[in-house]
Amino acid sequence: MKDPIIAERVETEHSKIWKQCLEFIKSNVPALTYNTWFLPIKPIELENSTLKIKVPNNFFIEWIDEHYNTLINRTINQILGTEGQLVYIVDDDGGPVLDNEPGLFDEPQKVSKPEVKTQNNNDEPEFESYLNPRYKFENFIKGEGNQLARAAAYAIADNPGETSFNPFFIYGGVGLGKTHLIQAIGNKIMEKHPGKKVIYLSSEHFTVQFVDAIQNNTANEFSSFYKNMDALIIDDIQFLVGKEKTQDYFFHIFNTLHQSGKQIILSSDKPPKDLKGLNERLISRFQWGLAADVQPPDFETRIAILKNKAKSFGIELENEILEYIAVNITSNIRELEGCLIKLLASSSLSSKEIDLSLAKKTVKEISTTRQINISIEYITKIVCEHFGVEENKVREKNRKQEVVNSRQIAMYLSKQLTRSSLKTIGLHFGGRDHSTVIHAFNSVENMISSDIKLKDTIDSLKNKIELGVA
Ligand code: ADP
Ligand code: MG
Repeated sequence: MKDPIIAERVETEHSKIWKQCLEFIKSNVPALTYNTWFLPIKPIELENSTLKIKVPNNFFIEWIDEHYNTLINRTINQILGTEGQLVYIVDDDGGPVLDNEPGLFDEPQKVSKPEVKTQNNNDEPEFESYLNPRYKFENFIKGEGNQLARAAAYAIADNPGETSFNPFFIYGGVGLGKTHLIQAIGNKIMEKHPGKKVIYLSSEHFTVQFVDAIQNNTANEFSSFYKNMDALIIDDIQFLVGKEKTQDYFFHIFNTLHQSGKQIILSSDKPPKDLKGLNERLISRFQWGLAADVQPPDFETRIAILKNKAKSFGIELENEILEYIAVNITSNIRELEGCLIKLLASSSLSSKEIDLSLAKKTVKEISTTRQINISIEYITKIVCEHFGVEENKVREKNRKQEVVNSRQIAMYLSKQLTRSSLKTIGLHFGGRDHSTVIHAFNSVENMISSDIKLKDTIDSLKNKIELGVA
């Protein structure tokens, strides 16, 4: 619907600029994403190279920042130049008042070059801790399924390296809060002990860094860097399986840290003893401290998580709705959150109240995507859509760069998000053999390590695939 007054008005500088931004964005995201997240944004003013835009609510800012940060930066760079900045203003009469976590949205959000987060501690040599400040104890809900892990995590954060929980090994299925909890420990250590050096990374990231170090003849520096940490947090350690040399170096780093009373924190999808293919001496060390599991949340915890998350978006949901979601989405907290986000999105766009029928519709959509999202076809579809490549091209012998990239990324995500064997994955991409898949996996890992923007893109594709949120 066109607003006649707006249509008639002489086009102002800021709307011209925003229009250009939208064009750029439009050509880089699927139509649904564009319509959902970017169309509702209105430009307000342009001052020097700072463009102020109005968004319907804080939830939009959070969502866009989390999923389209890279794109936004690229757009601003492209249209307004390197000096360009974007300032979000929340539309006050456009929705519920939001009381978010303190500090997060106190100020209009400025997006210029957020890139990497640096340690917020001026006395120490700067290095990237890779911790996401959003993962805190304060927003981690206690439940039966995470009781032990959470209690241990608190103890460790108070006295890193000094409890008997060293290493602290947390394991369990996807979306149950492992990453949240281990990062919360890291954030708390940095807050309570500002001098301590804390680093968080996934085992894949660690591997890629290691491979780079080997190639650049800096393996010793690599080792000493990590041996110098006060707390080393490695996520998804199961991906070290089969990487003998990385395991070797990790083993020595582990020993040095452990001997000098430094804290080691690890997560995995299974308990240490089930990490087949991991060096026995590592497995035995993983059992030295505490191995604690996280289980799917019970009903009350699911309700509490939903309530808390809703509150952080500034809304309150009726019990009937909370219960409907909690009864129907049971196995995974990420999905629970995804459902809430989807619900908020549909409601804020259609300006409809969140009611039971909207909740039912959303739960149904989530359940359907859950079934299809396991398939390699679905992954391929989402990846191709994102890069604007025809799906059948990635299955043919096409060597065009964008096709090769999409194919490799789709293979990479298929390996990460499905249980399919390398052989099966190869078969889905025009009968390629398993070594091609390995090659694809490694090159994507390599690219990610040197290209944070690509990593962002891949993370958001992953989210999209897992949640079915475009
Ligand atoms: P995992 O690493 O086990 O796959 P994550 O830590 O990524 O799971 O959790 C998935 C999502 O669910 C994250 O957004 C996280 O903040 C949220 N989450 C998980 N557990 C809890 C909890 N106990 N309380 C609040 N949020 C949680
Ligand atoms: Mg995780």
